[in-house]
Amino acid sequence: MKTSVIGFPRVGELRELKFATEKYWRGDISEKELRDTAKDIRKKNWSIQQEKGIDFISSNDFSFYDNLLDTAYAFNIVPKRYKELGLSDIDTYFAMARGYQGEKGDVKALAMKKWFNTNYHYMVPEFDDGTEVKLAGTKALDEYSEAKALGIQTKTVIAGPFTLLKLTRFTGSTKAEDIADRLAESYIELILKLSEAGEEWVQLDEPYLVRDLTEEDIALFEKLYKKILSEKNVKILLQTYFGDVRDIYKKLVSLDFDAVGLDFIEGIKTAELIKEYGFPKDKILFAGLLNGKNIWRNNYKKTLETIFDLKALGINTVLSTSCSLLHVPFTLRNESKLPQKYTEHFAFAEEKLSELLELSSLANAENFAEIAGDSEYTANEKLFKNRPDVVIEKVQNRVSSIKESDYTRLPVFEEREKIQKEVFNLPLFPTTTIGSFPQTQDVKQNRSAFRKGEITLEQYKDFNKKKILSCVREQEEIGLDVIVHGEYERNDMVEYFGEHLEGYLFTEKAWVQSYGTRCVKPPIIWGDVSRREAITLEWSAYAKSCTDKPVKGMLTGPVTILNWSFPREDISVKESTLQIALAIRDEVLDLEANGINIIQIDEAALREKLPLRKSDWYSQYLDWAIPAFRLVHSGVKPETQIHTHMCYSEFTDIIPAIDNMDADVITFEASRSDLLILDSLKANNFKTEVGPGVYDIHSPRVPSEEEIVSALEKMLGKIDKEKLWVNPDCGLKTRGETETKASLVNLVAAAKKLRNK
Ligand code: GLN
Ligand code: ZN
Repeated sequence: MKTSVIGFPRVGELRELKFATEKYWRGDISEKELRDTAKDIRKKNWSIQQEKGIDFISSNDFSFYDNLLDTAYAFNIVPKRYKELGLSDIDTYFAMARGYQGEKGDVKALAMKKWFNTNYHYMVPEFDDGTEVKLAGTKALDEYSEAKALGIQTKTVIAGPFTLLKLTRFTGSTKAEDIADRLAESYIELILKLSEAGEEWVQLDEPYLVRDLTEEDIALFEKLYKKILSEKNVKILLQTYFGDVRDIYKKLVSLDFDAVGLDFIEGIKTAELIKEYGFPKDKILFAGLLNGKNIWRNNYKKTLETIFDLKALGINTVLSTSCSLLHVPFTLRNESKLPQKYTEHFAFAEEKLSELLELSSLANAENFAEIAGDSEYTANEKLFKNRPDVVIEKVQNRVSSIKESDYTRLPVFEEREKIQKEVFNLPLFPTTTIGSFPQTQDVKQNRSAFRKGEITLEQYKDFNKKKILSCVREQEEIGLDVIVHGEYERNDMVEYFGEHLEGYLFTEKAWVQSYGTRCVKPPIIWGDVSRREAITLEWSAYAKSCTDKPVKGMLTGPVTILNWSFPREDISVKESTLQIALAIRDEVLDLEANGINIIQIDEAALREKLPLRKSDWYSQYLDWAIPAFRLVHSGVKPETQIHTHMCYSEFTDIIPAIDNMDADVITFEASRSDLLILDSLKANNFKTEVGPGVYDIHSPRVPSEEEIVSALEKMLGKIDKEKLWVNPDCGLKTRGETETKASLVNLVAAAKKLRNK
């Protein structure tokens, strides 16, 4: 059976692209040097796949920042404000990705959003009226030719026109339908060029098809593809992922695609759809059977059951990953610390290639009888019978004895709000930050020196305490009302907690791209989770001892910890989350007992695992995720103020659920999305106090005082002045110290100006 990979991690085995790109941004290396690094990464990625014997290897899965941005750029969907800067190609592209502030002008970046239900972020393309859609970039073509010159025939991957249009923001009066024809023609032009260069297969990624589709959506899809398919001169693989395509399956397989890629992992209905409606004999099914999002070894028995079913139905099948391997780390080879009893249960991108290969040969059989006794099969089967160090009985008992009342905090919000106003006596428009302060070299060095055993625990702590002290002083100087300790002890808001929890495993080099050059290293939930000892108490208590102002403790919530970890597949995510919630609850109570009476519990990733289909939102997710959050803080006193933070503002449609988290204050990202959410907060009578971030921390740009005042004034049109908090839109750890201070000074000045008005 042939094999296919939808896409491969592109930041490089050791994040080479990240480092090169950041050097380029700082002006330390030339564009040529950056491009050379990129070229090396592509070559290595293709070669690895070729050596493993993958039949359908992707090109153009590489990106300097984001694939959807690449596609928008390739078709000239570039807002005027970036073109007008008059920068080079690559700098215009980077200006769209991260904003630009320099001698040529001052523009903000495009909005950034979570890519479907992943922790990857894409840049939201923006279409101005008057933009001419045309083929403007040669990236796909160049990368195809580059691979070909290396003797590797690839399939070119491009984000499909439907998904592109659905995710684009139209700023003027032009609508998606208005440019559909022109866009289809541009795709045709690109595909023609590819075919002239020797390309045989083009993979068009249409993950948007796994969402709820309206009739208009389906019509738009059809319009685009009837056109593209009528003029194609290569074979076209229509690739979907992150779910099933129940709203369009019949139509999809009736169109003239040469192959259709379906997700069997998250697509809970995929197998059913095929059984019910059949799959045409003249097409190839790219069956996404290897989980592209999780790191566990594939269960060959389960996979082969599906494969044998498909074969019995006479379906021409290619074995594929369920989505791009972008969402898993590159290789297990660099993990030297984890014992084999654990690692033998894992498959990262490279190991998934081996699995594809093993499965492809096992799949040549027609049934299980033919593979009985096969050594690879037997070895795989054994893995699923025995996983060591998983069960902690105490934890399981604690979860099963949770009472309904444990999910409710008393007294109700309105009463707490009154009590807290009195206790804290904060000014109107209180100012605060989201938690982290710039993670400068010295901070990272301190952690890494400690990890390597080069300094003692005492030295490590002393350094952090000095940082905390100066961070607190700086915040006092700037005039912030609620102080944070700065999070110098944390590399990552989830990994840090995982490290202090039983049941977690950690990798050394298992980075996964989150956005642009930013990567995260998700920990692995191996078994039952419990708290070993107090986690953040020492830092928060120290910060508190440095100041008379209120200090906000800083925790990560259970849903986010789960969502940013690689979850178990042997128990439900709900059960895992409740285990984590109980652990964080203990931490909340410890902080409170030590006088930390403002506690922020970040749920940066709460929306991430929201099912892509509305009909599943509550039953599959919110019905347990929101109570899990409440379980964390339901034990605190009325005068303890619970904050939460979310890294996006796209919760217009789940506002009641967010209010139901029953926090006292919520901060979120609003600066990049034009404050659209405020209308919905108002419409829903949102009770929780809110701090819709007043400036975008994803960019080094310093917002002016006037800019912040005007953002706040807009907010005041929608939010009661008694409920409005003033803060940046996320943590400051990726920013430099100078811009951070300048921005916060302006932020405080803006809040004061408003108070005086
Ligand atoms: N408290 C965290 C920080 O400030 C929140 C980060 C996040 O939301 N991603 O870094
Ligand atoms: Zn955030």
